[in-house]
Amino acid sequence: MIKNVTIIGSGVMGSGIAQSFAIHGYSVVLNDLTEEYLIRAENRIKENLELLVEEGVLTSTGKQKAVQAITYKTDLSEAIQAADFIIEAIPEVIEMKWDLYRKIENLKKADTIVASNTSTFPITKLVEHASFAQKMVITHFFNPGHLVPLVEIVKHEQTEGEVIEATLELMRSIGKSPVLLNKEISGFIANRLQTALMREAFFLLKEGIASAEDIDTAITAGPGFRWAFTGPIEIADFGGLDTWQRVFENVAPDLDQSITAPEVITDLVAENKLGTKIGEGIFKYEASTVSEKLNERDRYFIQLGKIKNKGEMTR
Ligand code: NAD
Repeated sequence: MIKNVTIIGSGVMGSGIAQSFAIHGYSVVLNDLTEEYLIRAENRIKENLELLVEEGVLTSTGKQKAVQAITYKTDLSEAIQAADFIIEAIPEVIEMKWDLYRKIENLKKADTIVASNTSTFPITKLVEHASFAQKMVITHFFNPGHLVPLVEIVKHEQTEGEVIEATLELMRSIGKSPVLLNKEISGFIANRLQTALMREAFFLLKEGIASAEDIDTAITAGPGFRWAFTGPIEIADFGGLDTWQRVFENVAPDLDQSITAPEVITDLVAENKLGTKIGEGIFKYEASTVSEKLNERDRYFIQLGKIKNKGEMTR
């Protein structure tokens, strides 16, 4: 029975993941290298919880309980000694992850499950310097981790069946929609699909087929609008497989086939136009518009989650 969950790394992902467990009654420890990082995470979590209250999916009492459910610790040993389930959410640098796994193996309980939130490393690489492959899984949450339901689960060939079952059950218990990969593959499922789509979006932009705004609208008002309800495989069934056969025959040969990053992106990166973090990418941004847009996005996701889960997104 999993009761105590420790999240290592309190950044963008770790703080959202910690919050997801806290609102569903788990006792959570959030660990990071410094007090300063933990205070930043605590403030972010409180703001996010307040938004759930404002949007009517969490009561003030629920917020208080969630706040009290999380303790913040810089000492790794103290942070993981009682943990039944650990999620590592430290930066995507393999040596950092290996170093942490070496430290964890002597401090954690023998049966503690260790999950990584890696977005890119195969689990076979992660366990190269971990002695607990049987207890290891990848749980790939999506940003914002406290609002997006998907968690991709990747197992190692040595991962015990009961570890996989317990992980799936744990994710369902916090209102997530876990999906299990039968084999490991780069980008897992969702980022492969997303990258395939984005390659084509940047190709259309480069070819001048439409403006950047219109390419975005073609997704948010079109396929993206229905994808929250029906996935691409079922869409093929509903559209008719004979129709989709013709779509593939007519369109697939014209699709972009490049295997490198789109030129539009590499050119802008060379000019240090990195997107919202510096105020300019494909579009230009004022700092205030970015935070307003993120707030608007989070409120939108909360309402969507409410509709999808019939008001039971959070307790
Ligand atoms: P981040 O840089 O925002 O946060 C990482 C945190 O880990 C920092 O606060 C850092 O101080 C802390 N940290 C570093 N070493 C540590 C250690 N040894 N012990 C404890 N804390 C330590 O990173 P992030 O965006 O939250 O990404 C974390 C992981 O999640 C990465 O593996 C990343 O690939 C993955 N991921 C990120 C996103 C995203 O959109 N940001 C989405 C899905 C998955």
